[in-house]
Amino acid sequence: MARFVITAGPTREFLDPVRFLSNPSTGRMGFAVARAAAARGHEVTLVTGPVALRTPPGVRRMDVVSARDMLAAVRAAVARGADWVVATAAVADWRPAEQAARKLKKHEMTGELRLVRNPDILATVSHERKSTAPRLVGFAAETGDVCAEAMRKCREKGLDLVVANDVTEAGSGFGTVTDRVTFVHRNGSTEPLPLMSKAAVARRIVRFCEQA
Ligand code: C5P
Repeated sequence: MARFVITAGPTREFLDPVRFLSNPSTGRMGFAVARAAAARGHEVTLVTGPVALRTPPGVRRMDVVSARDMLAAVRAAVARGADWVVATAAVADWRPAEQAARKLKKHEMTGELRLVRNPDILATVSHERKSTAPRLVGFAAETGDVCAEAMRKCREKGLDLVVANDVTEAGSGFGTVTDRVTFVHRNGSTEPLPLMSKAAVARRIVRFCEQA
């Protein structure tokens, strides 16, 4: 039995109480990994942004909104003990520099929005871990040289595995039920998988963690 912390879904970065920056992530991949890991008897904490999905059986769920909330929840979950962090979340890379406490009036908005970088959750966990635990799995949604980018991510963020996905391909990426992914390992070896359901990709990821 291993302890998994899984991130899922988008984050929302509010500029005032009614407006935010986000992306079309549905959370399906992360929920599929959580379901697959729990079904195998692992202890699972699922840290998720706003999504319309039911919590898989046996999974402890932490709901968050922004990237900074997600980082705090992941840190807390890792502090309780984790063997694997699987980061499927589509974290917003930037957030508005200021967040107004009340709704901005149209005339108060200038047409320009100043942004600041959000923390990289996976990279932060990687830098903060004391030894090799938890081990890390990341995703790379790319449009160009998928494997080269994935390998760079693997090295930079200290990951064991990158699940690389060409999001321009039909049937792959945001909101789809299937994915064609390539497993990119830290030693540089690549393992292209056929088009399969997200549930099947999730089971392969859990099996990788069990055998690593
Ligand atoms: O660098 P890039 O955003 O493409 O990396 C994708 C991987 O890093 C995914 O596993 C994603 O969940 C994770 N990530 C993160 N925090 C961010 C951005 C990405 O954990 N702020």
